[in-house]
Amino acid sequence: MTHQPSHEREERAPTPIERAILALLLEKDGPGFAEYRTQVEAVSVRSNCECGCGSIALKPDPMVSSRAASGLPTVVADANVILPDEIVGGIILFQEDGFLAHLEIWSVADPLQFPAIEHVALSGI
Ligand SMILES: [Zn+2]
Repeated sequence: MTHQPSHEREERAPTPIERAILALLLEKDGPGFAEYRTQVEAVSVRSNCECGCGSIALKPDPMVSSRAASGLPTVVADANVILPDEIVGGIILFQEDGFLAHLEIWSVADPLQFPAIEHVALSGI
């Protein structure tokens, strides 16, 4: 599935499902995670793909969130999407320059929206 960037959508608050997924992805501890957790508390999001998937751009408010150190991996965390009992895709959280930048959902078949949290399982990276 090819993602098709769009820059026309409006910024909005994350949905409860998006918030739950961000919290799950940042649940474990890793480099920069303390800062990333401050960023998701005051984050705006924007749907940024026209392929039909739920991928969103993340815009943390720099006034109320801490920037993670530079030089950290671009991929912050990832998870598998399991519907109902097979892996049908995954979710990847990216950062740029110390700030969370993108929450991508990919799929092996049709584009996916972010699923309920019980269908998301962290994968170890
Ligand atoms: Zn897409």
